[in-house]
Amino acid sequence: MPYVGRFAPSPTGPLHAGSLVAALASWLDARAQGGRWLVRIEDVDAPRCVPGADRLILDQLARCGLVPDEPPLWQSQRGALYQHALDQLVDAGLAYPCACSRRDIEQAQAERGMARVRGAELPYPGTCRPENGGLRGRPARAWRLRTDFFEPNWPANHEIRAQAAPHSVAISGSVVHWTDRRLGPQQQDVAETVGDFVLRRADGLWAYQLAVVVDDAAQGVTHVVRGEDLADNTPRQILLQRALGLPTPSYLHTPLVLAADGEKLSKQNGAEALPLHDPLQALTAAAARLGLPAPMTEATVPEALIAWTSAWSVAWPMR
Ligand code: GLU
Repeated sequence: MPYVGRFAPSPTGPLHAGSLVAALASWLDARAQGGRWLVRIEDVDAPRCVPGADRLILDQLARCGLVPDEPPLWQSQRGALYQHALDQLVDAGLAYPCACSRRDIEQAQAERGMARVRGAELPYPGTCRPENGGLRGRPARAWRLRTDFFEPNWPANHEIRAQAAPHSVAISGSVVHWTDRRLGPQQQDVAETVGDFVLRRADGLWAYQLAVVVDDAAQGVTHVVRGEDLADNTPRQILLQRALGLPTPSYLHTPLVLAADGEKLSKQNGAEALPLHDPLQALTAAAARLGLPAPMTEATVPEALIAWTSAWSVAWPMR
């Protein structure tokens, strides 16, 4: 299958040292494997987007020599596709409407004796599942995916199981096993960790999980290379791919850049925008985080990118 990779920034601010690592890694992986590299602007969470950040990111990437092989896509223009995917899941009985507010969920969790752990979300307790009484006359707020559809006696299971699974992915019950090219074998019980997760939010916005799965498939993405902070979303995305009958790409999660306080560097904790006047310096720092050598003195951006592409082929297993 021809290689298609992508970089999918959320325009919540300019590109920073952390997001450049993911951008460079996905570009290098695509180039090293003779593939195409796409950019998708993930602006579904409109309230978090900063006007103009999309154009700024594209400009920053271009100055770093990272130019997509096709015109970028904006997720805000793709609502019809996400609706179609949700309709498909609802028709198959794999998604259901949910009337719960945050408080309802917390109350139901407390009633079930689910203990709160600091900093961790508790799984959705399944209050609005049809077999638990559904909406009970309350208005629908969000839509959720059933995470139990892979259980042995779930009716739609035969068809879903019949779809060929890639060698590195196995699903038993709600436990997803997958192999990350950098992190190695991973597993997560999605029902136990997050429970039936949101596909369309109570505010009407499309959830990241649904948009990313629909778009990766629609764009024919075969290789996802992105930051390690997203690794624990992968099992949800694999379940959703199965539910929609879509192929699972291969995954590589890149190391994060930490801020001075040890937290992941992000737009939220004030990561500085990349200096546009010296893209080579920014790229060199990103390359170092990926274990790639500093460029020769006097190297230009295109020369450095060529050298890193060869080094990448040696450093990262090609799968
Ligand atoms: N839009 C996400 C972010 O900026 C990345 C999504 C992805 O690469 O799957 O964090």
